[in-house]
Amino acid sequence: MTISELVRTDGTEVSLGQLHDQANQVDDDLLPCRANNPELWFAESPSDVESAKALCLDCPVQALCLDGALERREPWGVWGGQLFLQGVVIPRKRPRGRPRKNQAAA
Ligand code: SF4
Repeated sequence: MTISELVRTDGTEVSLGQLHDQANQVDDDLLPCRANNPELWFAESPSDVESAKALCLDCPVQALCLDGALERREPWGVWGGQLFLQGVVIPRKRPRGRPRKNQAAA
């Protein structure tokens, strides 16, 4: 599937070309995923994923990035400050391994 236009969460439309152009007009130093190790945005560790999500909040193209990722149904990774898995936003990454049988003591 090829997507050339996306409808933003505010209802406005933007082409993916415009999205790409806008991101390219921003200095790499201002895009946290370019200024930091990009592996963080696809990390296995839940704490690293939360760090990437927090870093996205200061990104000047955060809203466009999120809209684009929703439209593309990104299969995996942090985009626009949200964690995607199989095309949908999920609240947090689960740690590896089996869940505990009993709740951990608080
Ligand atoms: S919002 Fe998008 S472009 Fe900005 S740091 Fe996050 S993943 Fe990168």
